[in-house]
Amino acid sequence: MTNQKTETKALHSGYRADPSTGSVAVPIYQTTSYQFQDTDHAARLFELSELGNIYTRIMNPTNDVLEKRLADMEGGVAALAVASGQAASLYSIQNIARAGDNFVCSSHIYGGTFNLFKNTFKDMGIEARFVDPRDPENFRKATDDNTRAYYAETYPNPSFEVFPIGEVASIGLEYGVPLIMDNTAAPVICKPFDHGAAITMYSTTKYLGGHGNSIGGIIIDSGKFDWEAHQKRFPSLREPDSGYHGAVWIEAAKPLGPIAYILKARVTLLRDAGAAMSPFNAFLFLQGVETVALRMERHCENAMAVAAYLNSHPKVEKVIHPSAQEGEIKRRADTYLGGNYGGLMGVELKGGKEAGQAFINKLKMFYHVANIGDSKSLAIHPATTTHAQLNNEELLKAGVTPGFVRLSIGIEHIDDIIADLDQALGN
Ligand code: PLP
Repeated sequence: MTNQKTETKALHSGYRADPSTGSVAVPIYQTTSYQFQDTDHAARLFELSELGNIYTRIMNPTNDVLEKRLADMEGGVAALAVASGQAASLYSIQNIARAGDNFVCSSHIYGGTFNLFKNTFKDMGIEARFVDPRDPENFRKATDDNTRAYYAETYPNPSFEVFPIGEVASIGLEYGVPLIMDNTAAPVICKPFDHGAAITMYSTTKYLGGHGNSIGGIIIDSGKFDWEAHQKRFPSLREPDSGYHGAVWIEAAKPLGPIAYILKARVTLLRDAGAAMSPFNAFLFLQGVETVALRMERHCENAMAVAAYLNSHPKVEKVIHPSAQEGEIKRRADTYLGGNYGGLMGVELKGGKEAGQAFINKLKMFYHVANIGDSKSLAIHPATTTHAQLNNEELLKAGVTPGFVRLSIGIEHIDDIIADLDQALGN
C-alpha cells in the first residue's frame, strides 16, 4: 500500500509506463495465454513457487493493474477482478463456505444478491441467514459453529440506511467470522477496511466504471483477517486442497503475503468456474477509476440538492436519503460515509404505485433503467422491477413500498436535474 491519497492512487497505483513501449495508458493485453521461458519456468508458475501469467481465465496484465489499483485505493493487499458483481458476491462466499455451512447476511441487499444467496446457495447446501441490520446484535444471534462469514452492503437501496460496519465487524472478531462488505454504492466515500471489514467487493459496473458501458466485479482482501488464528472455522483454507496438489492455502500464501483468501479464490474458483473479467472491460474500468473520486463528489453534492428540493415538494410523501434521517441511522451515515451521503436516494410520492410509475414515465433526461452509479441520472420503480422476485413480506423487510422510486443522481448540472424532476412532478 502506498501513502498517497485515494485520488492520486486512482491515477497511479499498480502501473508506471509500459517498460517495453513507454505507453502511459495501460495497454489492453488482449491475449489468452503467455509464452513460458522454459519448462522449469512453466512448472514454477503452476506450483505457485513463482507468480506469473499462465492463462487469461486466471490472470491478465491489464486486469492486474485494475486489481492492484483498487486494492491500493481500498487500503487492502490484493484483489481479484471477475466478470460481474454477481460473480464477486458468489466467489466471496463460496471461497470459504461449503455444503452444510452458513453465513449471516443483512436483509438490506440488492435483489439479485438476495436471489443468489437465498436460492442458488440453498441448492448448493449453503444457508444464508438473513437478519435485520438495524440491530447489529442480530448477527451474533444468528452465528453458530458453521458460520463462515457476515455479509452486508454499505449503502443499501432501497432502505438507504448505512450498515453498522464497525459494530458488526467487532462481533465477528469475537467469533472469528470475517465481515464481507459490498461497497458498490459508496466507493471512495467509505473505506470498510478502516472500520474492521475483512473483505470488500464491488460491482465495478456502477460508480467505479461510471459510464454504464461494462459489467464487472472485484473482490478485495484487506490482508488483516487472521485466517490462521481462526482456522478451525475455515477448513477450505486449512485442509489440503485436492484440487491443487494438496495445497494448504494458509501455508501456501505465507511466502507471498497475507493473501491466502484471495490467492485461493483466483487459483481454484476463478480457474474452475471461470467468470473472468475481459481485459477490454478492465481497461474501461481503469478509465472510470481515474475520475471516480471527482465524480463521487459531484454525485453527493447533486443528491443533497435533489433531496432538499424533493423534501419541500407538495407531491412528495417522503424522501429516503441520509440527509432526511435521524438518530442512530443518521449517526451511522455520518460515521461511515464521512459527511458525504452518496448519490442514491428514494422518493415516495403521494398516490402510491400509480403516482410513482406516472412520474417515471414523464422523466425526459433521467434514463429509466435497471442500473445505478452511471454518470447520467437514472430512475426506476423497484417493486415492479429489481425487487419483483421478492414476496410481500420480503419487500417490506427490504424497505420497498409500492410508491417508491429509486433515483441515482448523476453528474449533470444540478439545474437540469431539478428541471427534469420538476416537469415530471407536474409543475
Ligand atoms: N451489488 C450491488 C449493490 C448492486 O447494485 C449490483 C447490481 O445492481 C450488484 C451487486 C451486482 O452487480 P452486477 O450487475 O455487476 O453483476
